[in-house]
Amino acid sequence: MRKTKLQLMQDVTLFFLVLYVGSLSKVVCFVQPNSPPDERYIGFTYEAADFKPAQEYDYIIVGGGTAGCPLAATLSENYSVLLLERGGVATLDPNVLYENNSVTTLLTANHNDSPAQNFFSEDGVFNTRGRVLGGGSMINFGFYSRADDYFYENSGIEWDRSAVRSAYEWVEDSIVTRTDHLRKWQDSTFNALIEAGVLPDNGFTLDHVQGTKIGGSTFDDSGRRHGAVELLNKANPGNLKVVIHATVDRILFSTSKTLAAVGVRYHDSNGRSHEVNVRGNGEVILSAGALGSPQLLLVSGLGPASDLSSMKIPVVRDHPFVGKFMADNPRTGINLVVPVRLVDVGVRVAGITKTGPYMESTAVPRLTTPIRYIPFLGSLPPLNLSLVVIGGKVSRPKSSGSLRLISPSDVTVSPSVRFNYYSNTEDIRQCGDVLDVLRKILETRAMEEYKFPGILGGSFFTYVGPSLPNDPSDEESTARFCRETLSTFWHMHGGCLVNKVVDSQLKVIGVDSLRVVDVSTFFNSPGTNPQATVLMLGRYIGTKILNERAASGLHS
Ligand SMILES: Cc1cc2nc3c(=O)[nH]c(=O)nc-3n(C[C@H](O)[C@H](O)[C@H](O)COP(=O)(O)OP(=O)(O)OC[C@H]3O[C@@H](n4cnc5c(N)ncnc54)[C@H](O)[C@@H]3O)c2cc1C
Repeated sequence: MRKTKLQLMQDVTLFFLVLYVGSLSKVVCFVQPNSPPDERYIGFTYEAADFKPAQEYDYIIVGGGTAGCPLAATLSENYSVLLLERGGVATLDPNVLYENNSVTTLLTANHNDSPAQNFFSEDGVFNTRGRVLGGGSMINFGFYSRADDYFYENSGIEWDRSAVRSAYEWVEDSIVTRTDHLRKWQDSTFNALIEAGVLPDNGFTLDHVQGTKIGGSTFDDSGRRHGAVELLNKANPGNLKVVIHATVDRILFSTSKTLAAVGVRYHDSNGRSHEVNVRGNGEVILSAGALGSPQLLLVSGLGPASDLSSMKIPVVRDHPFVGKFMADNPRTGINLVVPVRLVDVGVRVAGITKTGPYMESTAVPRLTTPIRYIPFLGSLPPLNLSLVVIGGKVSRPKSSGSLRLISPSDVTVSPSVRFNYYSNTEDIRQCGDVLDVLRKILETRAMEEYKFPGILGGSFFTYVGPSLPNDPSDEESTARFCRETLSTFWHMHGGCLVNKVVDSQLKVIGVDSLRVVDVSTFFNSPGTNPQATVLMLGRYIGTKILNERAASGLHS
């Protein structure tokens, strides 16, 4: 369709607006904390280069992330635990700490040492992973919502639902804020979802229920983050050593009787290598995330034999599914410039639709500009503008891909991953369902005030990027829109799936004393957003191990 002169002028305007948003996001405004972060865990946290490890620990956990922190704190109740994290401590980094700066964390990521590590998947989609004590929970957008029943019923993990509830509560009592008051944009999102028919109105709940709900957040009401790292404060300090800038290179095995993990080799920031072992009844537990855990298994010789051999990695055990079934939920949506000054960044509301997609939205504020200098909009009175993003998540993608090593021996070189987004047409169909909900949202009264007045009367939405295709029944334009707007929800998972790589207790199949406890074991991203379930999983598996060892009389 040919663009009119007016539309072209709008495009030019939006180009400048996008530039302006980009420049603003680099000019950071820090929210002042109303209380200092709880950093008692610093008392047992060490730089790898200064740390002399003991010869043995009961548990060595690789990856101090979203699952690793609660797991380490829990196991330390009765056992000696070494937690090795490749990143540093960033609780005082203002970009990590404050919700207003969460996008800046992603924009300032680098290749070496930033808390966020950006990468492109082989699909060409921009993505991010955590590289910091606390992992993804320190760089994410904080929305907190528990898993759905479909996840529990199909995950292959042995769940004791009352222990699941206790594990959630253990996490929530410390780091989750229960939102009782929605600010302007989230309030409008809530009302628009209800008007759009995403019913019922569930008010505030941490549970996964169909309809529109207000969820929890790991950002408190002053916008300060409480990540997994704060769960370390619940540890037995005498039993836990947290070591930062400790990058694990290999799992060490014994083959004397049965194949078993006996320790790990890691290097510090000076490049010096260290080896540590686990005691007889102990375990090595990988909590290195969706890319890190399969990568470590592969470099250690557990993976598809032919792939390992082709990279000259000695095969410890043929494990055909390591690095397979990697998935990332596609996100589609629209971005609007709105004539309202919005100060509430962050997600507090989710729409859980009947047809499948999950809907969320956030404002990107601080677009308060002297817009009289911008063509076209300059003819209107000065306005305060904001950018809003309204998106939907394809909740159960059928498309999946795999991960492959780039370096056979250097774990600091990220593996490459292909998610094969939309390779299964069912995922495109669900993306079409997202567009249907978006159309309804834009027709609601709640969205009226976010339109610009037209010069010749009427009002219109101002898009940054593509607007929704006009004809919902046109499958071709729907598919084109879905592919053009494809981006990540940052919910990647898989690579060490239950019943493929690990068993129902997350123990690596065919190898003693080795488990994987993180998002890489998930066949599906749980609930609207996964971090609640990952945090719960760390506590849940930790408690299960404590109980099993207590029952078998194997204390230390
Ligand atoms: C930008 C972004 C926004 C998100 N928003 C939300 C949200 O709002 N709500 C939500 O629920 N979820 C959100 N998520 C998803 C959620 O944060 C992740 O699913 C979750 O953090 C994954 O937890 P994990 O424990 O599996 O891995 P991680 O938390 O990533 O932990 C893995 C840790 O292992 C370390 N590691 C890796 N390899 C090694 C090695 N060789 N040696 C030592 N350490 C190693 C890493 O540095 C990292 O700290 C978001 C994610 C991102 C990236």
